[in-house]
Amino acid sequence: MKRVAILAMGGTIAMVPAPDGGVVPALGAEDLVKALPGLDVEVTARTVRTLPSPSVGFADLVDLADAVRAEIAAGVDGVVVTHGTDTIEETALFLDLTIPGDTPVVVTGAMRPPGSPGADGPANLYAAVKVATSADARGLGALVVMSDEVHGARFVRKGHTSSTGAFASPGFGPLGLVVEGEPACAAPRASR
Ligand code: ASP
Repeated sequence: MKRVAILAMGGTIAMVPAPDGGVVPALGAEDLVKALPGLDVEVTARTVRTLPSPSVGFADLVDLADAVRAEIAAGVDGVVVTHGTDTIEETALFLDLTIPGDTPVVVTGAMRPPGSPGADGPANLYAAVKVATSADARGLGALVVMSDEVHGARFVRKGHTSSTGAFASPGFGPLGLVVEGEPACAAPRASR
C-alpha cells in the first residue's frame, strides 16, 4: 500500500468558528484526515503549525521543509501539505526550491472553512492525496492542488479572494486535472 504523509500548517482548511464571529485555524492534521473517505493509501498526519498563512514566516518554512525531507527520507510515496491559501504559492515555491528528488510534494488548502456549506477542504485534501500517490506527479516539483486542478508551484497564482476556483497558472495553465478522483498530468516530466 502506498504511504502519504499529511503535514498541516493551518489556514482556512483548518479553521473553526471564533468567539468574535470569525474563524481561526485550530484543527490539526489528524482532524483533517477524519474528513477523508476510505482510501487504499496509508496516511500519517502531523501538525507542523496552526497558523493563518499570512503569519507563516521563514522559520516556519524551514521547519516545514525539514519535516517534508524527513518524511521523504522515511520512504513515503508522497507528501501533502495543508496550508492557508493567501500565501500557498509562496510556500509551494519555497518547497519547490528546497526539496530535491522526484517524490511528489503537494500543497493544498480550502477557500471555505469546514462546517460551511460546500466546504472544499475535504475534496481538495482527497485530490491532493491522490496526486501525491500518482506516478504522473513524480518529478514535477512542488505542486498546488485546488479545485481538482494540479498547478506547478512555479506558475500558480491566487486570483480571487473567495471563489473555490481561485487558482490559475497564467500563461501556462494547470499541469493536470483530477477527474472523478483520478489524477491525470499531461505535462512531460521535468528533469530536476
Ligand atoms: N486567510 C486564510 C489563510 O491564508 C485564507 C485561506 O486559507 O484561504 O490562512
